[in-house]
Amino acid sequence: MRLQHKIALITGAGSGIGKTTALRFAEEGAVVIINDVDQDKGMAAAAQINEQGGSAHFIYADVTAPDSVKAMVEEAIARYGRIDVLFNNAGISGVGLLHEIEPDTWERIMDVNINGVYLVSKYVLPYMMEQGSGSIINMSSCVAEIGLAKRASYAATKGAVLAMTKSMQVDYAPYGIRVNALLPGTIFTPFVEQYLNNAYDDPELAIASIKTRQLSGELGLPEDVANAALFLASDEARFIMGSPLYIDGGVVFG
Ligand code: NAD
Repeated sequence: MRLQHKIALITGAGSGIGKTTALRFAEEGAVVIINDVDQDKGMAAAAQINEQGGSAHFIYADVTAPDSVKAMVEEAIARYGRIDVLFNNAGISGVGLLHEIEPDTWERIMDVNINGVYLVSKYVLPYMMEQGSGSIINMSSCVAEIGLAKRASYAATKGAVLAMTKSMQVDYAPYGIRVNALLPGTIFTPFVEQYLNNAYDDPELAIASIKTRQLSGELGLPEDVANAALFLASDEARFIMGSPLYIDGGVVFG
C-alpha cells in the first residue's frame, strides 16, 4: 500500500475531489483526517471510509478562520502525533465578469482559495519541519495558465496558489518537505455544475464546448485528480518538488 502508516489531512474533503481523494488515500493505507466547513458532508465522508474498513476522522474547521484552523491542527496532532500529507483542497467557485463582481464576493474567494492555503499550511508546517518530512499538495487549476470565460476572480486565486507553491518549496525543501500543485481541467463535481449553471445560458452546450477544447474530448473525473494527489503524496514522488501537475485532458495545449 502506497500510503501505509501515513497521516493525511485533506481540507474540503466532504465533497467532490477532496472526498474522492480521501477514499483513495484510505484504500492505500492512510489514516485520513477529513476537514470541511460542512459538518454533515464531512462526517458522512469519514463514516463511509470507516464503514469500508479504512480509517478516517472528521474535524470541522473553516479554512479562513485562524482559530478554527489552529484548533483543527492541534486536535489532529493530539490524536495522531504527526501529519505526513496535507492536501489543501478546499475551495469555492467564482463566476462573473470582473466589472460585475462585488467587493465582498471578490474578498470571499480570495479568503477561501488563497488565505485558506496559507492558514492551514502555516499551522501544519511547524510539525512537518520537526518531523523532517512531509508532502503538501496545493489545489491550483488549469485556469492559472489559460483564459476561461467569467473566471477572472477564480483564476487570480489559482494563479496565486501556484506561485505560492513554488516559493514554499524553496523555503521548506531543507526540512524534507515537498510542495507541489495540482492543475485540474474541468472535473465533473458539484462545484463545476454550479459554475456551468451560473456562467452559461445553456450548460449542456457549454459542456460540449469544453469537451472539444480538451484534447481528451472528455471531462475529467474526481478519480483522475485523486490518483494524481495519491502519487504526489506517496514516496514515489520523492524527486518531484515545486511542480505543477496537469490533470486536464490536455486543455492547456488545446
Ligand atoms: P466541491 O464544491 O465539490 O468541494 C469543495 C469542498 O470544500 C466542499 O465540501 C466545501 O464545503 C468545502 N469548503 C468550502 N469552503 C470551505 C472552507 N472555508 N473551509 C473548509 N472547507 C470548505 O468542489 P470540487 O470540484 O471538489 O473542488 C475542490 C477543489 O478543486 C477546489 O479548490 C477547486 O477550486 C479545485 N478545482 C476544481 C476543478 C473542477 O473542475 N471541479 C478544477 C480545478 C480545480
